[in-house]
Amino acid sequence: MTVKRTDLKTELRKALKNGEIVPYFQPLVQIRTGVVSGFEVLARWPHPVRGMVPPDEFIPLCEQAGLIGELTETILLQAFAAAAALPINIKLSVNISPIQLRDASLPQQIRRAAEQGAFPLDHLTAEITESALVHNLEQASSIAAELKNVGVKLALDDFGTGYSSLRNLQAIPFDELKVDRSFVNSMISNRDSRKIVAAVIGLGQSLNLTTVGEGVETIEQADMLLWLGCELGQGWLYGRAVSAPYISQTLSARLPAACDSRGKSPTSDLVAYLEQLPSQRRAQYQAIYDGAPVGLCYLDTEFRYVSINQRLADINGASVAAHIGHRVAEIVTPDFYSEIEPYFLRALKGEAVLGVDITRARPHEAPGHMTILIHYQPARDEAGEVVGISIAVVDITKFKQAEEALRESEDHYRHMVHSNPQIPWVMDSDGVNTEVGPQWGQITGQTIEQIANMGYLEVIHPEDVAAFTPTVRNAIKTGNPIDIEYRIRKKEGGWLWMRSRGKARRGPDGEILRWYGTTEDADDHKKVKHALREARAKLRALLEEKQHLNTVTVDSLLQITD
Ligand code: C2E
Ligand code: CA
Ligand code: CA
Repeated sequence: MTVKRTDLKTELRKALKNGEIVPYFQPLVQIRTGVVSGFEVLARWPHPVRGMVPPDEFIPLCEQAGLIGELTETILLQAFAAAAALPINIKLSVNISPIQLRDASLPQQIRRAAEQGAFPLDHLTAEITESALVHNLEQASSIAAELKNVGVKLALDDFGTGYSSLRNLQAIPFDELKVDRSFVNSMISNRDSRKIVAAVIGLGQSLNLTTVGEGVETIEQADMLLWLGCELGQGWLYGRAVSAPYISQTLSARLPAACDSRGKSPTSDLVAYLEQLPSQRRAQYQAIYDGAPVGLCYLDTEFRYVSINQRLADINGASVAAHIGHRVAEIVTPDFYSEIEPYFLRALKGEAVLGVDITRARPHEAPGHMTILIHYQPARDEAGEVVGISIAVVDITKFKQAEEALRESEDHYRHMVHSNPQIPWVMDSDGVNTEVGPQWGQITGQTIEQIANMGYLEVIHPEDVAAFTPTVRNAIKTGNPIDIEYRIRKKEGGWLWMRSRGKARRGPDGEILRWYGTTEDADDHKKVKHALREARAKLRALLEEKQHLNTVTVDSLLQITD
């Protein structure tokens, strides 16, 4: 084994000298769009006999043999040379061994290589693992500061393994945080991994660092990373490390773009959203929350208020502060709680219950009741588990009252029509009746269907129909008011005198739109008139006979007018 290692070291020295150790390039990709933003440079040793020797094997050897500086140099020079053929916005990331952060000449070495390869240093990121910082944080941070000085960006590699010390994040001005692939790999199936990834991304965002998810192998992982707010991804989903001649293929390939795992496709709004700091987002949410014209709250799975807006707090009759952390049952009345609890339970099981309206007493002995419309929406985490309930409440008391008033006014109108001896009717401009009050049916026994379409003619006395139809027809033609008397057949038999009067309603150009009128029982009136006429005739005959008066004199004596 030792012999082999020594052999390998000798070979390594030779290989370095002969440029046999080469850089491979693995894409770093914007998760949302699938656009390549740069490449991580990974050392490869294609050994003529042993095949491809993995870096995990030869890099520790380089470190032991004091060859790591040489390795970095050859890798950088070859990478910069390859970069000359790439679009200018493409960035490169290189790995720096922990021991190199004890070497004060590192910044100079990198600068020289960049000059030689004409590579802009602000397009270079140095990836540092935390183990580099453990032994001598002070020295490491001064070298890191110098690298920053020459324009090189710094990434904290494999975050989450090692020590993950927040002190390191504070001591070194990192630009990027790389979430170790062990967490990304298991985050779909393992809740703890997911929580760690979420926390690391959150930490990165809070410190205004670009976060990179390493080891992304599936689109599900990419979706979840995006959902958690991670910007860049690296892994086999996008491509393995390739040698320089194949970079252009990676650049021209269509790489997968993730979508928001809640089913929405990525939008430019989301970019803007991702570019914001969590504190800005919180401020925005708060403004939306407070400004919404509906009551809003969020409950945890124990039905405690995690957040609530002013409007809902007002509806409940307590301050916002008095709600937070308290169970709903402690805030609202027991009666009301027993009405809403079943919906909480349904939402916890994952069901969205929308548009439930409930009438409740106003809070604090305020008089009267209020009607509210409530939506219950389960809130899920990245894995789809229900973690709380989002509730929206709209006070619809006024609408309910208006609805009530409308119903009351309809009832009122119906009573007015029903108890009125006059039967309202409506007729269109062709003389076809469209509506007739219910009393008509009560008198004649005709159903609504029988009355419709001039079916009412069926019950008009045959002697009167002859006058009725031409009168109506004439009115339709001239627009003159209708006033007509006729008999109808009562349902119990016998005839009843009726009088119908109606007027035309005209449009802006004088055209007739409809006829409106009423029909009333004219039987008594008609009978009195008839009796009067008979009495008068008798009297006339009597006067003419007894007094020998002429007709004119009789008329003036009687002074009766029809
Ligand atoms: P690293 O910096 O964490 O590099 C990423 C490693 O993850 C690479 O392994 C890469 O091939 C692998 N990887 C990338 N995507 C996936 C994936 O989707 N799934 C899985 N399972 N693995 C993935 P590699 O190339 O074997 O490099 C291993 C380590 O060697 C690197 O880890 C880095 O620490 C070190 N290394 C590589 N090149 C250099 C170098 O030039 N200088 C120094 N000092 N270290 C280097
Ligand atoms: Ca790395
Ligand atoms: Ca890494």
